[in-house]
Amino acid sequence: MKSKKKLVIANWKMNPSSLEEAKNIFNFTKKTASLLKNTEVLLLPPSIYLQPLSKIDRPKNLFLGAQNSSAEEKGAFTGEISISMLKDLGIKFVLVGHSERRAMGEDNKTVNKKLQAVFEAGLIPVLCIGESVRDREGTHLEFLKEQIKNSITGLQKKYMVGMTIAYEPIWAIGKPYKEAMNPTDIHETVLFIKKSVGEFFGKDIASLIRVLYGAAVESQNAKEVIEYGNVEGFLVGHASLKKEEFPLILKAIDSVR
Ligand code: PEP
Repeated sequence: MKSKKKLVIANWKMNPSSLEEAKNIFNFTKKTASLLKNTEVLLLPPSIYLQPLSKIDRPKNLFLGAQNSSAEEKGAFTGEISISMLKDLGIKFVLVGHSERRAMGEDNKTVNKKLQAVFEAGLIPVLCIGESVRDREGTHLEFLKEQIKNSITGLQKKYMVGMTIAYEPIWAIGKPYKEAMNPTDIHETVLFIKKSVGEFFGKDIASLIRVLYGAAVESQNAKEVIEYGNVEGFLVGHASLKKEEFPLILKAIDSVR
């Protein structure tokens, strides 16, 4: 992926219910992606659809990735999918530490272990972070800083260069666009995230990381968030499954230089 371009990640979560529908969503996304000039698109379908979707032709700016992987190499881990299995399918991208995985018990230690394993295998992780509540005292900022620190601790500096972090305030995930975080607050939080990375890895690394925003991005707020939110792209959940909606988001982001 060329980091100068904006990036939109489509997190399909545990949707859709059939391969046929997955192919439909893939195809309408593919059609729009081929028209984009400044934007790359990373689709994260459920892993069972990765192999059939990987067989379909796609434009150079459309990628496939996994929503999760195990940090373990192989063995007695029922229901898990390893990084080697993804690699074998030609998959290069893995989402790590999504809030819904964290809600299922994944802690920062596991997230850190997964990041290490993904990097060591030569794949590219996208780290998700985000607070569940905000308050006037700013305790959410302390929370974010701890989450960042404990997720990236011990990673080699070379891995941090150009790393993608998706900032997703949990309180806005799955909500309609009116309940998304406002662009000014997003802008400030992105600065805080970069500053925090800078404290652990130095300013040079911090200036190279790519921060995306996710939570309640819909066609109505996409342009405003990209213009004023200081982000280099989005992680989109529910709207990425919608035939009318997702192409509009992609075109909106692509129109902003
Ligand atoms: C998500 O869960 O990663 C997400 C961004 O969801 P939504 O767009 O539905 O808020």
